[in-house]
Amino acid sequence: MLIVQKFGGTSVGSLERIEKVAERVLETVNRGNRVVVVVSAMSGETNKLISYAKHFTPTPEKREMDILLSSGERVTSSLLAIALNAKGQKALSLSGRGAGIRTDSNHTKARIENIDPTPILSALDSGNVVIVAGFQGVDEKGRVTTLGRGGSDLSAVALAGAIGADLCEIYTDVDGIYTTDPRIEPKAKKLDVISYDEMLEMASLGAKVLQSRSVEMAKKLKVNLVTRSSFNNNEGTLITDEDKIMEKPLVSGIALDKNQARIGLIGVVDRPGIASDIFQTLADANINVDMIVQTVGDSRGDNAGLTNLAFTVSRDELENAKKCIQKFQSKNEVQDIEINDNIVKVSIVGVGMKSHTGVASKAFATMAKEGINIMMISTSEIKISMIIEERYSELAVRALHSAYELDK
Ligand code: ADP
Ligand code: ASP
Ligand code: MG
Repeated sequence: MLIVQKFGGTSVGSLERIEKVAERVLETVNRGNRVVVVVSAMSGETNKLISYAKHFTPTPEKREMDILLSSGERVTSSLLAIALNAKGQKALSLSGRGAGIRTDSNHTKARIENIDPTPILSALDSGNVVIVAGFQGVDEKGRVTTLGRGGSDLSAVALAGAIGADLCEIYTDVDGIYTTDPRIEPKAKKLDVISYDEMLEMASLGAKVLQSRSVEMAKKLKVNLVTRSSFNNNEGTLITDEDKIMEKPLVSGIALDKNQARIGLIGVVDRPGIASDIFQTLADANINVDMIVQTVGDSRGDNAGLTNLAFTVSRDELENAKKCIQKFQSKNEVQDIEINDNIVKVSIVGVGMKSHTGVASKAFATMAKEGINIMMISTSEIKISMIIEERYSELAVRALHSAYELDK
């Protein structure tokens, strides 16, 4: 078989761990497989590099960030190649550029445009284990780009698709996909299988065990994706097509996203096109807006002709979003900007919701019982999301986990 194995930050977090990864890769080779390995930076490394840059300014140039951040993955990929060669297994490492990963120029969250499989395939043909530095590519002009946080998952899935791998294994520090983050709720249960769509929602809604774009890509390219632990040999979780899953639970999991901030715009001039102007400005700055709420405009007194708007963005985009909105404040189209970064998003995910009623009301009742105020709500066919105060995060996750009997 042709297998792509991706090892995350904790799995390559020390020289001892890299040694263990080398042994694991070697076992896979010795069972007769051809192996491409994708590695993350050592755990904590990317955050450390970000904090270095932020020592100088809260908004460092994105192009420089990419050169800085891509270094972490180059360290682990070359070290793993050195470790394998030392064990007598031919291996070579490739950067994103070397592996033929071409992206657009959207620095710090670039999209993969295409992958030239030749460098990897020819290195495999010469009997190498090929190790690719995850999380990075190169744009048209030859500039290094990175693929967004957690982007090594995307590197692995995209490479698996490009070289036609039979299997893509994501090795991490938990046994697979759980009903919720096992670090928050120890009663969480490991799932044997989950559909691409549910996993996509879980990942987009904060379950950082897989990067959401990697799941999107796996679905599109029909990559056989398995998440498992690099610390043991337990079977992991298979992520696959919904039709291949016999028993569909009503709710599959609870996700928590702490990387959330809410921007409230008070006294917005209620003219046609204002919402479009505001959100276009944010879109032009590549800022993803998630939930949006507009309150009913006031037709009386001092507030006549004014309305209020609130929306959420990820916390790391808050500074840039604020800058965008300040333009409207200086044009007197927005009176006040209210920032709240003490909020989180808690979500319930399950394909079973499509055919059952009462799932949402149970979520609201559970929050009410715990005395948690819901600040914003949004729903789709297979998810319900609520914005709540950050201090209630763990309580909300555990209460919902038990309300939907996920611990049973
Ligand atoms: P890696 O460094 O291997 O990429 P991550 O830290 O990105 O690992 O992702 C693994 C972590 O995801 C786990 O340690 C766990 O705390 C967290 N996690 C969040 N939600 C879930 C979930 N539903 N199932 C499993 N792990 C989850
Ligand atoms: N090292 C990068 C990050 O921490 C990419 C990854 O680990 O997948 O986001
Ligand atoms: Mg990760």
